[in-house]
Amino acid sequence: MNSRRDFLGKITAASIAFPFLKKAASANNPFNEKPSEDRLLRVAIMGLGSYGTRVAEAMQSCTKAKLVGVISGTPSKVKAWQSKYNIPEKNCYNYSNFDEIKNNPDIDAVYVITPNGLHHDEVIRVAKAGKHAISEKPMTVNAQQAQEMIDACKKAGVKLLVGYRMHFEPHTLEIIKMRKAGEFGKVLFFQGLSGFIIGDPTQWRLNKKLSGGGSMMDIGIYSVNGSRYMIGEDPIWVTAQETKNNPVKFKEGIDETIQFQLGFPGGAVASCLSTYSLNYLDRFFLDGTEGFAQMYPSTNYGPIRGQTNKGEIIAPDVTHQTVQMDEMADIILRGKKPEVPVDGEEALKDLKIIDAIYEACRTGKKVKLEL
Ligand code: NDP
Repeated sequence: MNSRRDFLGKITAASIAFPFLKKAASANNPFNEKPSEDRLLRVAIMGLGSYGTRVAEAMQSCTKAKLVGVISGTPSKVKAWQSKYNIPEKNCYNYSNFDEIKNNPDIDAVYVITPNGLHHDEVIRVAKAGKHAISEKPMTVNAQQAQEMIDACKKAGVKLLVGYRMHFEPHTLEIIKMRKAGEFGKVLFFQGLSGFIIGDPTQWRLNKKLSGGGSMMDIGIYSVNGSRYMIGEDPIWVTAQETKNNPVKFKEGIDETIQFQLGFPGGAVASCLSTYSLNYLDRFFLDGTEGFAQMYPSTNYGPIRGQTNKGEIIAPDVTHQTVQMDEMADIILRGKKPEVPVDGEEALKDLKIIDAIYEACRTGKKVKLEL
């Protein structure tokens, strides 16, 4: 692999040999920007809610990305973030005026961390403003909208990434490395269990317009996405069954519990559960002819733990959002290719699967997938 260390080594060697190079690069740069190897990704967060707050905190430890702006509908939060993160007034927007961000050269990317049902329109507006877009998961609420977001970002010449933080998590990456090296033999089974007990019945997660669905959109997506990166293939069919014990809390269009099964071209099957009615449900299990891997917890904020038939996975415990944002800076500014993709196409695949899961629940039929 062409490692970052090699790359940095070359840069350092070049700066020692040609100390004037950096100066010359910035003198020729019309925006007086730093050469790309030194540049920070300057990010504005849209939606200063619970996860936005977590990302902002984590970004304080980033070395390649920096929080420089906010987009919010709540002026009191804007004030608080301005003083906490030293954000200048000119980098603060609301949902009506954030298209003006196109005239702001001090912001490179907008990280959309609002309710799922808003991501589509907001990401398209970010793209039209000429800024790179990072969307939280799910990227949106169906495959058609996902495609429209991809097209808008392509047209605008900006990158579209999705907050798949597990794609940078060291225990996860170690298991993927072992599977790629054939250490589990032929992988034939994956089990993904994703759930938590959801509280306040009035929250946006239980409002179809804002959430796009129930547990599947919010937490089941981790098993959908995880089945793909753990097995290393994209599924070709899906079957699914829905169970609803509380139709008052989980209204029409808001799934409480869904079991689903995925079939993969190499012969593997996945059996998964997504629910808003059980805690401690955060487990991955991968089985092959020569070995297995299990993770518990598998996708929460960590520390993530994993074992294989060879023993405990030894890997660093990291703050997921810090690593994610530093890696995204490399992806956006320096064209780095991550081990597991985090782009719009990756999210489109998950949304095609989720569309098919809902269809299978409705019809009771096996649904074929073409990803
Ligand atoms: P919150 O409800 O805590 O925050 C959402 C924020 O969005 C609000 O605080 C508000 O910020 C803004 N907002 C704009 N319009 C609305 C609206 N109509 N209703 C409610 N809020 C609105 O949600 P989360 O932070 O938990 O989730 C946000 C996104 O992040 C979701 O897509 C979710 O799936 C994702 N997420 C991802 C996680 C991960 O691990 N990757 C974990 C948790 C969430 P303001 O007042 O500033 O306008």
